[in-house]
Amino acid sequence: MKSRFGKYGGRYVPEALIPALEELEREYLAAKKDIKFKGELQDLLKNYAGRPTPLVFAKNLTEKLGGAKIYLKNEGLNHTGAHKITHCIGQALVAKRLGKTRLIAETGAGMHGVATATVAAKLGFSCDVYMGEVDVARQRPNVFLMEQLGARVIPVETGTKTLKDAVNAAIKDWIENVKDTHYLLGSVVGPHPYPTMNRDFQSVVGWEIKRQVRAREGRLPDYVIACVGGGSNAMGAFADFLRNKEVKLVGVEAGGRGKKAGEHATRFPGGSVGVVEGYKSYFLQDSDGQLQKTHSISAGLDYPGIGPELAYLRDKGRVEFVSATDAEVLSAFRLLAKSEGIIPALESAHAFAYCVKLAPTLSKDKVVVVNLSGRGDKDLFILAEAFKDEKFYEFLENYIKK
Ligand SMILES: *Cc1c(COP(=O)(O)O)cnc(C)c1O
Repeated sequence: MKSRFGKYGGRYVPEALIPALEELEREYLAAKKDIKFKGELQDLLKNYAGRPTPLVFAKNLTEKLGGAKIYLKNEGLNHTGAHKITHCIGQALVAKRLGKTRLIAETGAGMHGVATATVAAKLGFSCDVYMGEVDVARQRPNVFLMEQLGARVIPVETGTKTLKDAVNAAIKDWIENVKDTHYLLGSVVGPHPYPTMNRDFQSVVGWEIKRQVRAREGRLPDYVIACVGGGSNAMGAFADFLRNKEVKLVGVEAGGRGKKAGEHATRFPGGSVGVVEGYKSYFLQDSDGQLQKTHSISAGLDYPGIGPELAYLRDKGRVEFVSATDAEVLSAFRLLAKSEGIIPALESAHAFAYCVKLAPTLSKDKVVVVNLSGRGDKDLFILAEAFKDEKFYEFLENYIKK
């Protein structure tokens, strides 16, 4: 199995972790060929996660924007509300084959923590989730959900007390407990084999899109658009189309509120090649190689690195990168909710924001698919603040007084 995508990827980790990564790679390769494993995975994806997710023809939006036909892949209908459950189930099943009994993860906004805690509960693992102390305070609802699911949330008090410190704590834990513990990584990032393994698990998304568009249109789409944090929903949507050169693939990054360092999370432009968290790719970093602060209205895109395969596909010109600002995302969010009755996650609204610009420039016979990676329930507090909904704050105050 190749550990690199061009010059990107690789396995830049402490010596102590090499055997665990080799073991994981070996077992994953064996699992891929095992009919029983495939059966178990498909059963859970269908009967627990809710796959396949629907491909919705956005009739109202297509008419309103007056150009290409718009289809929405509604990954928000997955169990736990986003695409993440798919690679969590996959990894947990590989961990089971390895005889591991404990899952660990690190999380920033908490969504990956909730997905990990969910599969841990379902498949009988104990679960510890590392989270920066600052994030624990900011993301109480997800901390509460993880605890209800039976996971232990461990606040990390070192450094900036945010995601990168949680990553370091999780790696340290894995080194110490590698015998019984699987480190469940939440995107197509990290050392080999994670980027390849998570892409393979998520590639069911593009596989479904292909069949669903063929059934409706009798051909392939002209565009597939997805938002890019680490890149798992984007690689999932893109993977099955890589060899179909006529299908344009577009990744949308978080343009945030400005172009200065710290105001956005666009690695293209903004990032440079480096080695961080076990892999080589583009990172938002300073001249010392320290990760920069990022900003996005959506917590899931607020990440300084990007999956190595996406860096490679961008160099090759196979995937085009654009960005959407916080303001564009909020207006796209409103348009999607009011036109199609779908409340997207703010991450997914980035992908849709680009579609709002693109669709009117294309002729009516073109077909655009937007991957809606998740639903927006989780963003209630951010949305109420962004839309300055006074009544929502009144509600919160009255709730506390009760
Ligand atoms: C976590 C998350 C993302 C970002 O992660 P990727 O690995 O880039 O897909 C995007 N959308 C939603 C809804 C998420 O929860």
